[in-house]
Parts: sequence; C-alpha cells; structure tokens
Amino acid sequence: MKSASEHQSLLTRSPIARALAVIGDRWTMVVLREMFSGATRFGELAAATGASRATLTKRLRAMVDNGLLYQSPYQTRPPRFEYRLTVKGSALYDTALAAWAWESRWTQAARRNLPMRLTHRSCGHRFTPVAVCGRCGTAISIRDIRFRAGVVSETQQEYLNDGSLRRSSTFSVAAGTGSGMFLHFIDVVADHWTPLVLAATFMGLRRYDELRRELGVATNILAHRLKLLVEAGVLQPQPGRAGARRLEYRLTDKGRELIVPTLAIHLWSMEWMPADSEPSMKLLHSCSARPLKMRMECNRCHGALRAQDVAAE
Ligand SMILES: [Zn+2]
Ligand SMILES: [Zn+2]
Repeated sequence: MKSASEHQSLLTRSPIARALAVIGDRWTMVVLREMFSGATRFGELAAATGASRATLTKRLRAMVDNGLLYQSPYQTRPPRFEYRLTVKGSALYDTALAAWAWESRWTQAARRNLPMRLTHRSCGHRFTPVAVCGRCGTAISIRDIRFRAGVVSETQQEYLNDGSLRRSSTFSVAAGTGSGMFLHFIDVVADHWTPLVLAATFMGLRRYDELRRELGVATNILAHRLKLLVEAGVLQPQPGRAGARRLEYRLTDKGRELIVPTLAIHLWSMEWMPADSEPSMKLLHSCSARPLKMRMECNRCHGALRAQDVAAE
C-alpha cells in the first residue's frame, strides 16, 4: 500500500483537476457544445446559450487565452471576428460525446432537455456514441481499466481489489438547465474536490476514513462531497464489512459508467495540458501494457465521429 502522501499527490495532482481548471465551468461547457453544433459568432453564441454579453465576453476571452478557441476575421469594414475551435478545443469533442451518452442514459432531466438525437451523416443513422479502446476496439468498461501509479518503476504498483485491479479516475455529469450535454456532468464534478473523491472511488477506495486519509481532505468537505455524489446517484452508502461501523461508499452503475467521460477528460488533459515531472496515474486497458487509447465511435457503423459529421436535433 502506498503511503497517504503518495496517494494524495497522485490524486490531487490529477490531470483531470488540471483540465477542469480550464473547462470545468458551466458556461465554458455550454459554449463548447454550441460550437460543436456549428455556432461561431458572438450573437449566435449569445442566443444559443442565454449568457449575458458580459459573461459571454469574459468566457470567450478565457477560452482564447487557454488555447481552446481563436478569433478569425470574417469582415473588414467594420472589422468583425468569429470564433473557431483550435485543434486542442476540437479534441474535446470526444469528451462532449461521452458526456452526452452518459447524460442521456442516466438523467431524466437531461433526456427532457437534450436537443437531442444525434445523427451520423456518414452512415445516415441515429446513433449513440460508444467509447472503445483505441487498440483492441472493445467497448470501454471500468472492469477493463487498470490504474497504475507512479512514473518511477520502483513505485509502480497495481492496486488489487476483490480480485480485480483497482481503478482511478475522475469525473461525472448531471442534468441542469439548458439542453443537457455536459451539464449534469459539470454539476457533479465541477469543484476541486469532487473529481478527486470520484477518482479515489474508481480506484476502489470505499471507506470514509480511508478516503479522508488518502485525499488529505477536511472531514466536512469530504462529508459534503459524498452527500452530493449520493444524491446524484453516483455513490451508494452501504454498511461496512465485518465489524466496521463506518459506511462504505460504492459506485452505482451510473457511477461506474462515469468512467467514460472521466477517461475522455483525463486523456485530453494528458495530451493537451501535459505537466512535466508530474507523477500521475497510468491508465491501461486490459488488452495491452501500453497506455490507454480511447476513441468514440458510432454504434451503428462503428465509424469515427467528427463534429462536422454529426447532426444534433
Ligand atoms: Zn483494448
Ligand atoms: Zn455511423
């Protein structure tokens, strides 16, 4: 077992936490959603998101500063700009699809509010995005994901848990106002601690005292986050094993499936916001000892999904 401080640094310096600093607020997610649907101009974005001019201006500026968008002139007199996704911003499309799939499966409110049927223009079918392993092509399930801690071989270790490998990661979605896609996810994860608590549960940590120790989190903060995750239907409290008086928190099916959007964000962060010398979880699929690759595909034709090939109604 690793020491608490080692765990803590692995968890609290998670790539997901880093990514959330850039994309983890509701307006940013909503703007991304509209841009994936083709909106480019300020007026279009304002109308589609319902954001005030001041809020939208501020958010767009931050997104440009963070390299998700760039401004492109579409008229010279008077000068006018529209917003375009950079490659880094476009790469969040997989995350958007993963969040959409999770929300439409698990949240009633999202189902009402989601625009949303997705049609894959390439094959002509309505479809559901499915996350598959980029190496072996099988659908991603938490059972097949392995979390390996440490960048130094000496400290590498797999966490065994009930005969299977322990898992880590971080993330989730919830349905709020607006038209779904990301929002439940963001409601669930968008604060500093929640993704870390989730990561720890993905890794197999369950007991309150264990979570508190491994995360180094204040007890009132942990209790509050666990309560929210239970209310969101992501965790379920159960009596602890033999003699333990404390509750254990287990992932529900809804919680387990959160692994997919979580992985999508993790992988995006590792690729686009790498931090040198930062120890982090290595994620593997059961098919390979090489780092996890994941892609979203159409469940009808198994083709890759690009924003320009997908129509949302
Ligand atoms: Zn695989
Ligand atoms: Zn298709």
